[in-house]
Amino acid sequence: MRTLDVGIVGCGFAGAATAALLGRAGHRVTVYEEFAEPSAIGAGIVLQPTGLSVLAELGVLGRVLARGARLEALHCVTPENQDVFRLDYAQLHPALFGLGMHRGALFQILHEQAIAAGATLQRATSVARVLEQPRKALLHDHAGRLLAEHDLVVIANGARSDLRRASGLVRRERPYPWGALWFVARDPTHFYRDRLRQITNGTRHMLGLLPTGLGPLESENTPDEHRVSLFWSIRMDGIEAFRRAGFHAWKEQILRYEPDAAFVLDQIESVEQVLTAGYHDVVMASFHTQRQVFIGDAAHAMSPQLGQGTNLALMDASTLCAALSEDVPLSIALERYSRSRRAHIAFYQFASRWLTPLFQSDLQALGPLRNALMDWACRLPLMREEMLRTMSGIKQGIVGESLALPAILAALPAPLKSHARARSAAPSAR
Ligand SMILES: Cc1cc2nc3c(=O)[nH]c(=O)nc-3n(C[C@H](O)[C@H](O)[C@H](O)COP(=O)(O)OP(=O)(O)OC[C@H]3O[C@@H](n4cnc5c(N)ncnc54)[C@H](O)[C@@H]3O)c2cc1C
Repeated sequence: MRTLDVGIVGCGFAGAATAALLGRAGHRVTVYEEFAEPSAIGAGIVLQPTGLSVLAELGVLGRVLARGARLEALHCVTPENQDVFRLDYAQLHPALFGLGMHRGALFQILHEQAIAAGATLQRATSVARVLEQPRKALLHDHAGRLLAEHDLVVIANGARSDLRRASGLVRRERPYPWGALWFVARDPTHFYRDRLRQITNGTRHMLGLLPTGLGPLESENTPDEHRVSLFWSIRMDGIEAFRRAGFHAWKEQILRYEPDAAFVLDQIESVEQVLTAGYHDVVMASFHTQRQVFIGDAAHAMSPQLGQGTNLALMDASTLCAALSEDVPLSIALERYSRSRRAHIAFYQFASRWLTPLFQSDLQALGPLRNALMDWACRLPLMREEMLRTMSGIKQGIVGESLALPAILAALPAPLKSHARARSAAPSAR
């Protein structure tokens, strides 16, 4: 395809990764970001093998691995420390693993890549409207002023995108009643490592402890600066009451579930340090129009129960760049993009929508049912494999269909496959 003039709305993970890939492929790229200083504040995220393979394509996997915390497993237990399930990536393939990563650290790397690839970043610029004309798409700000015109506009402005609503392509857009409180703590002894640990009691209480690696500003030579992210499930309409009540009772409740987390809780000095996150369920009929394409949370926000949102956003960026490299008209490239992302995204939308109430809802009776179901599923080799494929981010349909694992493994450079399993003698989370 000829060189395109591309405008990208939103400099989050989706926008920054797309800017880096399209800039490198020779397209002229301008990214519009409403914040004066784009950054990704927030807790840790899990990068799955799918997301890691795109980071390899971007040439940043080494830096990402150096800043992240390798995860061998997702381990969910009851308050009595009975397994609800334990899924080890290596049971699917010995070379697979996940990575706990500080949002800010990943953002910093992607942002640097976008700038190095020649993308121009227009900060403090909020795009209010995209007007499509036969040959160009026009971007307007909130005062109705024309900002720019582009051959193609990539909408990557996150879960609350107004531009998505204006497209007329939205099939479903709902906030979840439950969200999360979170806090990122220092973990100097690297106590939480190797796995994402979740403790679940029925469907109303869930605690997560995610090894998160280094923060954005820390050097790779400061191992004592390792972080751990604490998540706590909360009803969104209970947040005000939580803030009014203060955190003492909350801390005690967490300590009952996880006495080892005392060093994490000791670092929380005021209730303002505990931040909140809400989730959305967004489904679009199609991911493109004539001159706009929707990616990342703007296209398919979902609950983070399966830890896939960033990974899907990175896969979107990679697939879009591949579609635009084909020697076909723009309309066909966008049609191919939408079609090739459909099944992968639809599976994770479906799975997260159905799984979330099993872990976060008022339907308490689902708790014991979930525990029994997970226990049964983990014992059946076929079911277990499907769960491992789901966790790794490669599922494209309910039964069987997956992204080709060998292709994902091939995209990962040797250091990832042979990455030594770092285990120190220090005690770690059970
Ligand atoms: C509690 C929680 C835990 C999560 N855990 C995981 C996990 O473990 N693994 C995982 O893969 N995913 C996880 N996710 C999901 C992940 O955070 C998102 O999928 C990801 O951040 C989406 O990236 P994005 O670039 O699409 O959107 P965003 O990160 O929301 O970026 C959108 C950008 O657009 C900008 N913007 C908005 N409107 C405009 C406008 N009009 N004009 C210009 N700029 C604009 C915003 O300022 C922002 O910078 C989690 C989410 C939550 C809430």
